[in-house]
Amino acid sequence: MPASLPRVTLPERTTLTALRGRATTEVPGVGPKVAGWLAELGVESVADLIQHYPARHEDLSNVKKIADLRVGEKATVVGRVMSTRPVGRPVRGRSPGFSAQLYDGTGYIPATVWGRQWLVGQLVEDTWVVVSGEVQRRYGIQLATKSIEVVDDPASTGDNAHAGRFVPVYPSNRGINARRVRTLIHRALDECGYILDPLPAGVLAEHGLPTLHDAIQEVHFPEERGRLKRAMRRLIFHELFVLQAGLAVRKSRVELEETGRSHTGDGRLLNPYLKGLPFGLTGAQERVIEEALEDLRSERPMRRLVQGDVGSGKTVVAVAALLSVVEAGGQGALMAPTEVLAEQHYLSVSAALSELPVEVVLLTGSQTAAERREALERVAGGEAGIVIGTHALIQKGVEFDNLALVVVDEQHRFGVGQRTDFREKGVTPDTMVMTATPIPRTLSLTLYGDLEVSVIDELPPGRQPVETVLTGVEGRMDAYEAVREELKEGRQAYVICPLVEESEALEDVRSAEELQEELAEEVFPERRVGLLHGRMSAADKRETMAAFRDGEIQVLVATVVVEVGVDVPNASAIVIEGAERFGLSQLHQLRGRVCRGLHPPKCFLVGEPKTDDSRERLEALCEHQDGFKLSEEDLRIRGEGTLFGARQSGMTDLKVANLLRDMEILVEARRAAFSLVAGDKKLGKTEHRPLRREIRELLGSNVEWLFKE
Ligand code: ADP
Ligand code: MG
Repeated sequence: MPASLPRVTLPERTTLTALRGRATTEVPGVGPKVAGWLAELGVESVADLIQHYPARHEDLSNVKKIADLRVGEKATVVGRVMSTRPVGRPVRGRSPGFSAQLYDGTGYIPATVWGRQWLVGQLVEDTWVVVSGEVQRRYGIQLATKSIEVVDDPASTGDNAHAGRFVPVYPSNRGINARRVRTLIHRALDECGYILDPLPAGVLAEHGLPTLHDAIQEVHFPEERGRLKRAMRRLIFHELFVLQAGLAVRKSRVELEETGRSHTGDGRLLNPYLKGLPFGLTGAQERVIEEALEDLRSERPMRRLVQGDVGSGKTVVAVAALLSVVEAGGQGALMAPTEVLAEQHYLSVSAALSELPVEVVLLTGSQTAAERREALERVAGGEAGIVIGTHALIQKGVEFDNLALVVVDEQHRFGVGQRTDFREKGVTPDTMVMTATPIPRTLSLTLYGDLEVSVIDELPPGRQPVETVLTGVEGRMDAYEAVREELKEGRQAYVICPLVEESEALEDVRSAEELQEELAEEVFPERRVGLLHGRMSAADKRETMAAFRDGEIQVLVATVVVEVGVDVPNASAIVIEGAERFGLSQLHQLRGRVCRGLHPPKCFLVGEPKTDDSRERLEALCEHQDGFKLSEEDLRIRGEGTLFGARQSGMTDLKVANLLRDMEILVEARRAAFSLVAGDKKLGKTEHRPLRREIRELLGSNVEWLFKE
């Protein structure tokens, strides 16, 4: 028997997966109450806690010493709270603000804060804060505070004379401040042991990235500037790499399993259709049609995103592709996000094809049982060549005879999850998704990163920029006066009602009705003023749209139901009431309703922006016509946080990556992920299993089907 071997204690090891399964209450010091505050920050598990990354790091070498502050300058200081006291004249016993006396070792200054009373409870003596504001002379020198955040004692963060010191600034709330957060993270990291890295070692080596464990440690407890930078880069890379790997798997899975068909026809429908158009195609339309036909011709299943600004003529491209599959004996479906739009597509497409031997069928949720039965029969029997509809197209009971191509119009309104719905019905048609919401390159790589992209980057000739005017409510009547001038010329106008929350939908109808009444009776008594809102029956909607299209109605009061796709070229003016409530891309879409004709169009934004953001949005719209430019502006104004709203994308929000800032990392992560997946299409190799799990856990149920055997 050899002498007993020395005992080696391996460090405890764990995985993100394991930590996701552990409640925060397992961390010493977290009781139900603290757990509740953490949950409010989105922190539910131990994994969430250690990944509750700082929103930013304040570089102490850049902050001002209190002794050096000058009146009139804007500055950031980091100081210790000595005391707080209420300021301003109390209203009903409550002070409107408070003042916190700060000390940073060089001097004292009071920081005045208006509102945010709940902060006072956190600012007990000795709390450290980072404060930005303007130095003013008013009853002595004070700092008029723009932002104030509690941070942990800077002395407890890494201290390196050469590199400067960094104080992490955390998202926190009234119940839990940064110092507490950091203490808990510290404990959690202590407890949980070494966190194994789900990214393959080869990828880390190739891209010079630190391990996950080291990166997490460094961002919470930064030691050195260079290391902190690499750690941040690693976490951003992580997030984007996992997303891209998910997309890569999706793409390869589709290509692997779903052999498409080659189906293009001989042009017997397509050629006469194109010849019969009252206009010539733009170069961009021609190119994109050719790209689509090329996809159809190939054996690979088509997966193409067609991006084209509002009014660029996407419908023609869709119809061309649909006709081509019909020629080859297949069926094509065109899916629109709203009934109004489906209806309009149906009318315009069937009119354009009336001379051709192809049957166009409409399928929406609000058809009568008899209409629906009839439509379903034509679809199942194969008589219907082109089927146009809403979500109803993908509902149970819809059987196609030979579905070869699905075109999804205004894809951004549907969400990513729904893209798979056709596949799950057991058929794999080619898919082409179209969107007018211009997607900046970064975002399209992220959201639609598994699709080929075509861009219609040219508008039909003769389109004129929309003169866009922002007025407060006081300018409202001037706007309607200008509309009256348009109407005198025989043109038409839209008036959009303020946006309301879903929960106020009934309210919505009422206010729309009131607006219509006001306009009909007081503002345009000499005209017919129609009304269109989401709660109307399909028949009423249809009738109203038809009357507007035919010019019987001159002014159409509408809710956002007209936002997408509605096309009445004679409409040359649009008034958007409550404009500050709309998002930028929505406003751009709405404005797009009037740039389809040849008259110089006008758009009036009636609104009282209440925040800087909403003012910026409206100003951006007045300044820019180009949707791509606007979407970049939008990204800049909104920040990255809200881009992946569940409704928009069905994907998880990005936590650390910023799509404007991190373009380069995105491209690098994408390349790395796609090359990894090229070598292991289902990520089935043992060394890739952790990554596979990470994809599942980060992207959630959206990707479940990817890994089904
Ligand atoms: P969107 O890309 O917003 O869906 P549409 O397909 O609805 O745009 O087209 C907008 C309008 O432009 C329609 O009235 C359409 O008939 C017209 N149009 C499309 N292509 C051209 C073209 N090449 N030249 C002139 N007008 C066109
Ligand atoms: Mg359209």
